[in-house]
Amino acid sequence: MTTNKFVQLEDQYVANIYHPLDVVIERAEGVWMVDVDGKRYLDCLSAYSAVSQGHCHPRIINALVEQAQKATLTSRAFRNDQLGSFARELCELTGYEMTLPMNSGAEAVEVAVKAARKWGYEVKGVPDGQAEIIVCLGNFHGRTTTVISFSSEAAYKRHFGPFTPGFKFVPFGDMDALVDAVTPNTVAFLVEPIQGENGINVPPAGYLKFAETLCRRENMLLIADEIQVGLGRTGKLLASEHEDIRPDIVVLGKALSGGVYPVSAVVADRNILGLFNPGDHGSTFGGNPLAAAVSRAALRVLVEENLAENAAEQGEYLMQRLRRIESPYIKNVRGRGLMIGLEVTPEARGARRFCEELAVEGVLCKETHKTVVRFAPPLIITREQTAWLADKVEEVFARIEARDAAGKGEPIAG
Ligand SMILES: *Cc1c(COP(=O)(O)O)cnc(C)c1O
Repeated sequence: MTTNKFVQLEDQYVANIYHPLDVVIERAEGVWMVDVDGKRYLDCLSAYSAVSQGHCHPRIINALVEQAQKATLTSRAFRNDQLGSFARELCELTGYEMTLPMNSGAEAVEVAVKAARKWGYEVKGVPDGQAEIIVCLGNFHGRTTTVISFSSEAAYKRHFGPFTPGFKFVPFGDMDALVDAVTPNTVAFLVEPIQGENGINVPPAGYLKFAETLCRRENMLLIADEIQVGLGRTGKLLASEHEDIRPDIVVLGKALSGGVYPVSAVVADRNILGLFNPGDHGSTFGGNPLAAAVSRAALRVLVEENLAENAAEQGEYLMQRLRRIESPYIKNVRGRGLMIGLEVTPEARGARRFCEELAVEGVLCKETHKTVVRFAPPLIITREQTAWLADKVEEVFARIEARDAAGKGEPIAG
């Protein structure tokens, strides 16, 4: 089948909820993806940071295949021989006492919300039904009905109401607004240490530390959504470490399985997750042995291949190279580790055409919020590959600039 045929099939039978580049991937390995015509691309999205360990990492795939031949799903009605070890390894790695495993990121965010509310009623003593959770403008925490209830993005919410109450917005990075939003009924502040989908926004230095101090003082929980920025992406195991904070609840997903299987989890101490009793929550697939085995391998790869360190090193180099590009189309380059956003100026007429041109050059990027090109390659990327990527970005900006300049002198067609 041709690329067009695959595109047509998807468009005909799949609900139209994304705006993908029309590249049809057939295989992928390491940092590379190959389309149905055999063209090779450097993956600079890593499935929104899920494929941090690289595509089809042999150790993770081995774990998948081996476990798949033994047992895939027992349900939590029975126990399995993988879940306990997975939980212990995840807890030891992140420094928390307990975990509650789920499948998708949004489900884990739901767990965090439920845990914070339960803690608020049973420990803090907030009157039942009155709990408030503070969230940030421009947040992204997933797409379930409750989670979009606390999105500030109109497009995510339109015609999906009525919404779940109990959430209050503050501008991301604004310490005064955070203080003002606290009431006796506040049970938690939910925050992304770096806003991913909102355009790779790094908060002002000291913001997270301030939030942690405020949460301690006001007896409320700090919940870090590290689904995208956690597990090495920003150059530390958790992005929270950049400000030396220890959130009460950390939400993980995406790279927790290296992109091989949907696995998410909440980690926290026993004073919070110990409040859950049978019947309080559940998931048919959550904590299944296949997920647990895959995730154990994914975490081992992360640690043993020093992926956080490599993210810090290659990220710093890439950021430097991108900042050196002189173009009237580049407004700024920002980020941490291998989570980098390049914002284009209004004259650039959007980020998408740069992504399309990069795809021609064999670099797959996806724009976020129309004006930001995101660079988030797998964390296994080498210096040589990072340099090649930077060269391609330079070339593409120069070419589009030259093309626009040439086009300006010509009469407008028609
Ligand atoms: C991707 C993401 C989610 C949602 O994860 P899903 O697996 O798509 O449900 C939540 N929070 C953040 C910060 C994310 O990047």
